[in-house]
This record gives sequence, structure tokens and C-alpha cells, in this order.
Amino acid sequence: MEAAPSQEHGRQHDRRQAGWRPLHDQVLDVSDDDDYNLALDQAGEALSCAGRVVVLSGAGISAESGVPTFREAQTGLWARFSPADLASPEAFAKDPERIWAWYHWRRTLIARGGPNAGHHALAQLAEIKSLQTITQNVDGLHQAAGSRRVAELHGNIWRERCSECDHARLVPMAEAQGDAPVRCRDCGAMMRPAIVWFGEMLPQTALVAADAALAEADCVIVVGTSNQVYPAAALVDTAVAGATPVIEINPQETPVSQHVDHRLAASASRALPDLVARLS
Ligand SMILES: [Zn+2]
Repeated sequence: MEAAPSQEHGRQHDRRQAGWRPLHDQVLDVSDDDDYNLALDQAGEALSCAGRVVVLSGAGISAESGVPTFREAQTGLWARFSPADLASPEAFAKDPERIWAWYHWRRTLIARGGPNAGHHALAQLAEIKSLQTITQNVDGLHQAAGSRRVAELHGNIWRERCSECDHARLVPMAEAQGDAPVRCRDCGAMMRPAIVWFGEMLPQTALVAADAALAEADCVIVVGTSNQVYPAAALVDTAVAGATPVIEINPQETPVSQHVDHRLAASASRALPDLVARLS
């Protein structure tokens, strides 16, 4: 991703050297936009016919808010740890201060980015349609934009739960600060991030909600996910194999791109507002 701007500069430089003509480039751009607009018209029609809509979202939509993935956030002093050193029950039992420092660092990055136009467009869509979002993201940005029905397959970085009892709490994004672990108000044990760690099961309630929503959906939007990480990818496979129209939004091709009904090869922050605008 970091290399993209310099590649672009390089290409423009080559074009100038080769006598590149702006008019020709504009014609190509219009042709690209025609393809995009046609796909947008068709996807918009499928969406407008739907009563119940399911959104499956992945890291791509949050990347546009500047939120790094787990691996991307492992820079500086965090680079020397293995992922399991930062996200496993064993590592937490051994060194809760380190794990909390890691999660506070990532909370800071998320709060700095905030929701983008893609997240906001989905919240707007929820006012028009019955919408269930199923996300692999732990950043809580769908909810920060105003989406309410969000099933989180990997947990939520803003939710904390007791390592011993059932107590849990949601920390408002604006109040995120400090590195120190918090103790449970009920039993005094250490609170931990309510995130699915290495060696842990995905939350059954989120999986059941995802299956139920997909079974009843009239339209499925798959946005910002590589469709390569299971079990989330299995949900996409199920949707693609069924009769429900599937719209994929992703600038990159994925394993399902050739099989979806409508493909918008664009960023979430461009395509989602465009799609929702087709409804009003
Ligand atoms: Zn407790």
C-alpha cells in the first residue's frame, strides 16, 4: 500500500516522457467510469428491491480510516513480539500489562482514524432497510458511525470482560486512555479485551446471528474483505452459492469476484455512498 503513490508518480513521469496526451487519458477515465456506473446502476437496483440486507465487512473498510491490521500495527517496540505473545490467554496470564499496553496502542490508532464515509453510508442504509452487519473488524467503527445491529466475529476492542466472572463493560471511544489493566468491579480479577485470541473459539452468538441473517437476506454486500480467512470466508461462500444477489465492493479482486452478481471495483468510502445514493 505504501508503494502506490510512488508507482503512480513513476507512471505519470513515463507518460510525459513518451508524449502522453491528457485527452487520451480522459477518454480512458470515462470508459472506466462507464463500467463502474453501469455496475452501480445494477447493484443499486438489486439493493432497492431488497427488504433485508446483510453486510459482511472486513479490514479494507477500516484501512480507509487509517486503522492498521494487527500485523501492520506491530511496528516499533511491538515488532519483536509474535502475534501469540500479544493476543493469547497464555500471554495475558503471564503479562497482562504488556497485553493491555498493546490494546491501548491500537485503541489510540482507531480513535484517531474514526469512521469514514463507508461506515457512515452503511448507517444511513440502516435507516432505509433492515440491515444486519457482520464484521471481522474489532474496531467498533460501524457502531461509531451509528450502525446498531452489528455481529462481531472476532470481538470488539472497546469491550472488556472479566477474566474470571461474567462482568463486561463497553468503554466509550472518547474515554480510551492509560495503559494499566483494569480490575473487575464485581470480583477484583483482571479485565481483558473482549477479543477472540489465538486458541479461542469465535463467539457462538455472532455466528448464529450471521447464519440466521444470511438465510433471510434479500441482498448481501461483501465489503473490504479478502474472502480468504475462514470462517468469515465460508459465510461469503454460502452467500455466493445461494440465490440471493451478492454485491462485492473491493478495489482488489478476491476469490469470489468472478462469482458475485455485482462487482464494484472501488474503495468502500467511494462505492458505499454511491450505492446508498442510488436508493434515495
Ligand atoms: Zn469479575
